[in-house]
Formats: sequence, C-alpha cells, structure tokens
Amino acid sequence: MAKCQFKKGKGKTCSANAQVGKALCVFHDPGMAAKVQKARQAGGVSRARKVAALAADTPDHPLGNTQDVSALLAVSINQLRRGQLDPRMANAIGYLSSVLLRSLEQGSTEERLAKVEAILGLVMTSQELAPISTATNETPLRGF
Ligand SMILES: [Zn+2]
Repeated sequence: MAKCQFKKGKGKTCSANAQVGKALCVFHDPGMAAKVQKARQAGGVSRARKVAALAADTPDHPLGNTQDVSALLAVSINQLRRGQLDPRMANAIGYLSSVLLRSLEQGSTEERLAKVEAILGLVMTSQELAPISTATNETPLRGF
C-alpha cells in the first residue's frame, strides 16, 4: 500500500497509508477533514462516557458494623448485575469492604480481649509496668 505523500517538515513524509486511489491519508486529505473531526469527537465522547455511579446527593450507606458492610455488598452485587454499577467501582467497593470488615473484626476482638483482661485483672497500669522496664536496664549480677 502506498504511503501518504504529506510533507511533515524537515523533509519527513507522513507514515500513514494513503487512501486507495489517492496520494494522502485520511488525516491529511482536506476533503476528509470534517469526517476525521467527527470521528475524533465520537472517540472523545466514548472515552469520557460517565461511569454508572450514584447521584452526588445519595445519602451515605451505614458502615458501622459487619452487618452494614454485608448489606452494602449485597446491594452493590445486585446493582452490578443490573448494569447500574460500574464494574471498576464494584471492584473498589469489594476491596474497601474487605479492608473495612477486617478492621471491624479487629476492633471487636480488641474490645472482647479488653473485657476478658479486665475481668481477670490482667490489665496493668503504666505505674505497675514501670519497675519492670527499669529493672531490665540494671545488670542483674552487679555486686557479685
Ligand atoms: Zn498523512
């Protein structure tokens, strides 16, 4: 296929294929300028297509406990299946939900542990811990 004969400057010619029966490619053919412009606009429009997202004034979904997060996941899965949620957004929701679930579960474990420690009297105050930390700085065999 013949190359476009358009001169780009510095003696270089266009490297695109010329149109059949013409010396120029579609980008350098003045008769094709309007069509090229339309095609570029269509490309821009399809790239800028808005993702399926909720309206900006949608109230926050509660996320205070694991049941709340499970409910959000259930709703999101159904929105995704209906094409109402962008798959990339669904991926992000899935990832953030897993992080949030881990955080919520960690919090409840720490709370339960604190209650158990309080019941068993295992929680030491900082004053109770202080002599232990200073003792480790001394040489235990000093004087022998
Ligand atoms: Zn060209």
